Amino acid sequence: VADIFSAEKRSQIMSKIRSSGTKPELRLCEMAQALLGRRWRIDQNVRDLPGQPDVVIPALRMALFADGCFYHCCPKHGHMPKSRREYWVPKLANNLKRDTLNERYLRRKGYSVRRFWEHDLKGTRINVTVARLARILLRRRQKSGRPRTLGSA
Ligand SMILES: [Zn+2]
Repeated sequence: VADIFSAEKRSQIMSKIRSSGTKPELRLCEMAQALLGRRWRIDQNVRDLPGQPDVVIPALRMALFADGCFYHCCPKHGHMPKSRREYWVPKLANNLKRDTLNERYLRRKGYSVRRFWEHDLKGTRINVTVARLARILLRRRQKSGRPRTLGSA
């Protein structure tokens, strides 16, 4: 976050993000809300969009996903269970196929789609991820012709 915000602004943002005790998808939502400010509408678990995005920012037409490391086969923590392989192999392969398809549908609808790994949404990784999300939101805001700074409504 250091390269984008002043130290004061940064600690203000980080103070709004819990570091434990919440699900990755909720933390992603907290991050977006802390970065954009309270006046922005942020929807969670949007069922009427492909793939039911965890976080949607309607004004920016952005859909964000918090992908579980196991179910979405993270390169660091994903693994194939040793038992019931006949169930898990196609199941996990299908998850990936569905992710790709849903992403394509969302893009066709004009959404910018970003995915975040579960492991990047907790502990010491939160700092890095907030900075990444800040850059993503800033770029999208500039494209949409909205004010250049984050946090201001
Ligand atoms: Zn992971």
